[in-house]
Order: sequence, then C-alpha cells, then structure tokens
Amino acid sequence: MDSLQDILLKKDFCRDDIISMLSARGHEQTLLFEKAAEVKKNTIGNFVYFRGLVEFSNVCGKDCLYCGIRSSNEKVQRYNITDEAILEAASFATDNGFASIVLQSGELETSNFTSRVTRLLEKIHKLTQNKLRVTLSCGEQTENVYKDWFNAGAQRYLLRLESSNKKIYEKIHPINELHRFEKRLEALHALRRVGYQVGTGVMIGLPFQTEADLADDLIFMRDFGIDMVGMGPYLEHTETPLYQYRNLLWSLNDRFHMGLKMIAVLRILMPEINIAAATALQAIDKLGREKAIKVGANVIMPNITPGNNRDNYLLYQNKPCTDDSPEDCKNCLEVRVALSGNEIAYNQWGDSRFFQNRLK
Ligand code: SAH
Repeated sequence: MDSLQDILLKKDFCRDDIISMLSARGHEQTLLFEKAAEVKKNTIGNFVYFRGLVEFSNVCGKDCLYCGIRSSNEKVQRYNITDEAILEAASFATDNGFASIVLQSGELETSNFTSRVTRLLEKIHKLTQNKLRVTLSCGEQTENVYKDWFNAGAQRYLLRLESSNKKIYEKIHPINELHRFEKRLEALHALRRVGYQVGTGVMIGLPFQTEADLADDLIFMRDFGIDMVGMGPYLEHTETPLYQYRNLLWSLNDRFHMGLKMIAVLRILMPEINIAAATALQAIDKLGREKAIKVGANVIMPNITPGNNRDNYLLYQNKPCTDDSPEDCKNCLEVRVALSGNEIAYNQWGDSRFFQNRLK
C-alpha cells in the first residue's frame, strides 16, 4: 500500500487512496490538511464567501430518524417566519455585503408552500434589486416546482443526500414513499437538468457508517460532478429514534476530525467546488468552522434567521449561536476568519467555479 506522502502526490485517486486519506491520524493528518490548504490557495484562493442563512420554517412533512424537527417530534414548537421578516433578513444580508442568502425549511410539497416560496423569491429580488444570489434548501420537490423556483430567481439548491449508501439511507429514514433513496437521488438530477448550481452533502459519523462508506460518499460527489457541498458531523438528538444507537457512535472528537478530513479530501478531489464549513462542526468545537476553512472549506453560512425562532430549528442539540443577533454572528465570524489566514469576500456572489466551467 502507498504511504500517505505518495498518495498526496498523485493526480488521480482510487477508492483505497481515499480511504487511506480519511484514515490519516497524527502527522499524516497534518500532511493531509496542509495539502488541502495548498490546493485551495493555488486554485480558488484563500477567500471565504458568506451566505446568510434564514431558517424560515420548521414545519416538516418528513420523519427522518435523526432530525430534531421530524414531524413526529411533538415537543417542537412549529413556526413560519412572516414574509416581512424574511425580507428584512434579506435586506440585512445585502446591506452587510453578504451577496448571498440561503432559505432553508422543513420539507413540504403542498401548493401553499411551493407558491409561497415562489412569491418570496420574487419579492426578495425586487426588494434587493437582483443583487442577491438565493440558494434554496427546501427538500425534495417535483421538477416543475424546481423550475418555477428557478424561474423566480433561485440559482442554487442544497439537497443533502445524507448518505450515498442505500442501506445506510434506509436505516436512518422510515421506509416509505416519502423517504425513498432513489427519489432523493433523482431530485439531484432534476435540479441539475433545470440549471441550478447543485449542492449536496452527507452526515459524518452516523451509526453503521464506516470510513469506506464515507469514501464512497466522496466518490459519489466527484462522479456526479457536484457544484457545492455542505457536510458535517452527525449529532444525536434525544427526541429522535436514531438516539437509541448512540452507543455505536464514534466520539464527538472523532466525528469532528472526520468532518475536517472529509472536507480536506474533497477539496483535493474537487479543487474548484464550493465547500461550506458546516455549523454542526461549530457545535462540537467553538472554532470548528474556522478550522474547516483552514483545511479547504470556502463558504460560511452565518445564521441570520430573525430572532427567537432559532431555538425551534434544532436539527440537533447544542446548536451554536441560537441566541446571537445577526450582527453578533457577523462580528464574531469576521475576527475568526482573519485568524484562519483567509479573507471574507464581501459583495461577491462567489459562484462555484466548477459550475462556471461546467457551463462552458
Ligand atoms: N429539509 C431540508 C433541509 C433542512 S435540514 C432538506 O431535507 O433538504 C438540513 C440538514 O441538516 C439535513 O439535510 C441534515 O443533513 C442535517 N441534519 C439533520 N439532523 C441532523 C443531526 N441530528 N445531526 C447533524 N445534522 C443533521
């Protein structure tokens, strides 16, 4: 077997190489992180793009076995942020040079919901004079809905596959039509056909998941030709069925480091895509997102969800920054990004360079 040093010199990586990279520890892990940092610096540069995250509703029709806002969790107080408040958040983002926002919510396929999102997109672009890139993260929808939203001005879409391994997917979701692996995968293809910059991601350190499974997740992203990725550690939530398997989990520290290694390896495999520093990393380590930036991530999503609703969007527990005001979040990030040797690129859309090249 090749040593990690030899592997890092390669241009093409086989599955075993990727597993070796993900298994790196100690000095080898440092070498991996340095390589990823170098690849980032030499291709897309040491810039970080902000996407203001608005979690506009936690009403969800799905019942994913890991997620704190699953429909069966009756302890969650459900909310829908008003259009006015969402527009205010969009203005805040524009005024502060964020240039992009992400609208995220639970998953609903009702026409009430889908037409509301269309209306919102139109209002946001009107108010901000088309200055904002808008990413949607509103789950699986029909191709026609994706088209409507695209035509109303959504340019990017985030839909995590959660795991590219069907067996794992079925262990962490109810087995029924609403949670079908093939349907989620097909939704990613539909998004690409419509013309979005397509983002996906997985959870890292799920029960039953191995390093080889995670290597396969990265290979899936590479072979699909994904434009953007957001992936982070799985964090158990007491009010979910998956909590029963907490004894099978890697330590938080191992999940955290695997999160960083996944980002580093993906940066090496796909130098020109956008990779987000997941908030879940920060839930484990206060400087988690900045560490992710250091090893290859180039996107941070400051939470700009208006006020007191954040406590009700607890996908996992100990979610950071739920009690900050948007301004606080921005200020703390600015200092930390500078510490990681990167620069925040204000007023720039920061489209995925991989996507731009794909269109040529
Ligand atoms: N409903 C939308 C997006 C909302 S949730 C959709 O499905 O596209 C955003 C992401 O949070 C999910 O895709 C999932 O990967 C992550 N998430 C949910 N529960 C989590 C948990 N317990 N630990 C870590 N990440 C979790």
